[in-house]
Order: sequence, then C-alpha cells, then structure tokens
Amino acid sequence: MTEFNTKLVHGIDIDDNNTGAVIMPVYSATTYQFAKPNELPRWDYARSGNPTREFVEKQITELEGGYQGFAFSSGMAAIHAVFATFRPGDHIIISNSIYGGTFRLVNEYLKEFDIEFTEVNIQDLAAITAAIKPNTKGIYFEVVDNPLLRVASVKQIAAIAKQHAITTIVDNTFLTPYLQQPLKLGANIVIHSATKYLNGHSDNTAGLVVVDSAALATKVYFTQNAIGGTLSPENANLLRRGIQTLSVRMDRHLANTHQLVEFFSHQSYVKKVHYPGLQNDASDQIANEELRDGGGVVTVTFTDTVDVSAAIEKLKIFKLAVSLGSVESLVETPYNMSHAELPVAERLRLGITPQLVRFAVGIEDGHDLVADIDQAFTN
Ligand SMILES: *Cc1c(COP(=O)(O)O)cnc(C)c1O
Repeated sequence: MTEFNTKLVHGIDIDDNNTGAVIMPVYSATTYQFAKPNELPRWDYARSGNPTREFVEKQITELEGGYQGFAFSSGMAAIHAVFATFRPGDHIIISNSIYGGTFRLVNEYLKEFDIEFTEVNIQDLAAITAAIKPNTKGIYFEVVDNPLLRVASVKQIAAIAKQHAITTIVDNTFLTPYLQQPLKLGANIVIHSATKYLNGHSDNTAGLVVVDSAALATKVYFTQNAIGGTLSPENANLLRRGIQTLSVRMDRHLANTHQLVEFFSHQSYVKKVHYPGLQNDASDQIANEELRDGGGVVTVTFTDTVDVSAAIEKLKIFKLAVSLGSVESLVETPYNMSHAELPVAERLRLGITPQLVRFAVGIEDGHDLVADIDQAFTN
C-alpha cells in the first residue's frame, strides 16, 4: 500500500478483533487481565497503552513515514512531552515566531527548569548557525508560521542541525502530512495540534508526535507515560475518523483558499496577501521545493481605508473565532485575538497590525466564501 489516500482510509491492519469490524473498536477499558503475575501482557493499563490510541499512533506514523507515533490530549501536551525529553543545562534554539501557547510554555515554565533557549529568525540560516553552542541539543520551529505564513526550510535547517548532532523538531500543524512530510526532509520529530486539520471538525482537542528513531521513541514514550497527557480512546476514535478524510477535506480547503487568494490579490483595499509561495521573498522558493501546496489559511493586510471590525461584523459565513483546520470557515484578527498576549511593540515588529486579518478557509462552496467577503469588505 503506497498511495497516500489509500493509507488514509485503510491506515493499518486491524488485527485484534474477531468481529470483522472494518474500523478499530473503541477500547474503553482502563485495565487488562494478566495471565500470570510475572507475565506482562501486551496491554496492562490504559495510560501506558491502549489499542484505539495505538491505532491512531500507527496511522500518523505511516502518513509521516516515521518510526513511531504518540497521541496526546492536546497539541500542547504533545509539545510539552517533547520538550520534557530534554535535561537541565540543555540548550534549544527556537524560532521567534511560534504558536503563543508554545511561547508561554517555553518562557513561563521550561526556563524555570534550567533549559536554555535562544530565539532566532528561523529564515536566517546564519543566525541559526551563530546560535549553536556546545550544549545545543534541539532546534524547534513551525514550517509555516502564524499569522504571516512565512515558510522555513526543513531541509536546510535539518542539514545544519545534523552537522552538530542537534535534534530537529518541527510543528507542522498548518500543513499536515498531506502537504509535507518533514521527516523525509531531515527533521527528527514532527508534532501536530491534531485539533486542527487532522481531526478537522472542531470537536476534538488532540496532539500527535512522530519520531524518526528508536532512541527518540524511547524518550517520548517515557514522557508520554510518565507525565500522562494521553489521548482518550473516545477522542482517539474521533481523530482516527478525521484522519481518514484528511485529503478530501484538504483538497476543498486548498481550492477555496486559492480562490480567495486570487480574489484578494485583485482588490484595491488589500495592501498585502500573505500566503506560502506568494510572499515575494526568498521563502517562495522554499515553498515551491518543500511544500505540495500553501495550505488552507490566508492572511491579509488591509489598507487603512478599511474598517476591519465593521467589515468582519458584516461577514455571514465566516465565524469570528480563533483556530483553523476545520470544515467551517473562521476569521480572526491576530492583533486582538490569537496574538493579543504579545506586547504591542512585539506585535507591530512582527507585522501584526490592527489591519491584519487571518482567514482559516473551510470546505463550503468557494464562490459563497468570495461573495461573503466581497459584500463585507467592499463598500
Ligand atoms: C493550536 C496549535 C497548537 C496547540 O495545540 P492545542 O491542540 O490547542 O493544544 C500548537 N501549535 C500550533 C501551530 C497550533 O496551531
């Protein structure tokens, strides 16, 4: 079985039920019988391992082309479990443009445990090299950053990291394995907030990690089991279902997003369209070489003539909410919403102005979405 869509639907063999069920059953048992006290069975206690969760873990491992996968109760639990594999005194290089929750975990929690971090502009390979120290053990970034959707090169960054035996960790929530498989480009660990595209229906908080080696698998399994932020069997079942339709949903997300990108690029009230591959900078070439497509999010800087909040109020289909990757279209203003935690000066430095609007495009009819935006923003 080699094709991506076939893998999505069939995942892996269901080898342990005797009913002929075509999907993995939900095993809700928290504990399992031992045959003898000194014979550890395959399953003993649900936090340590559960067949329904393991099915999802194998699904994502297969799709990423990795060694082993791990499912968590949220994207943040997944990210925490990965950072928890490091030790006091370790140094980790991180992108200066990462998810706010990750930024908070690093700055308000992990630093107190003597893990050292250096923030870099992840587009700047020279800055990455300059940040490397003898105790540098990891580099962490998002391939497509948020909200400006600039693309970092997994290939180039992983090549630098490899020379120094540094573990490359990628949060690839925005792309999913349908659009990029970072392990195949040299990354060692890929993380997803599966709450977004992989689940796809705004009804499940989940996180996934896939590693490329047995040594990393041992470390992540230890923190998953020891800290215990595992995905429940019921939520694993929802995620299993979501993953099976990833590519059909994603194809519509992409078609609709391309329609909106095209529409926005012809409007006089649009100052800049931010979309991978169309940034008019060096990252366009990276996007073309390393991404199959730019994804289902587009961010727009509107001219000062646009009253952004009045226009958003007029939208009928797009719902004003954070998050992304679900069937329904969402709109948000990073300045006031997703990135409000950052100090104002920092927001402005990053280009997150009050005129910036992020559209997480759903799977409705594309022309309805264009018409909705047209009636709201054109006065
Ligand atoms: C949402 C998100 C997270 C956090 O995931 P949760 O499932 O909300 O815990 C991490 N990284 C990125 C890029 C995200 O979009």
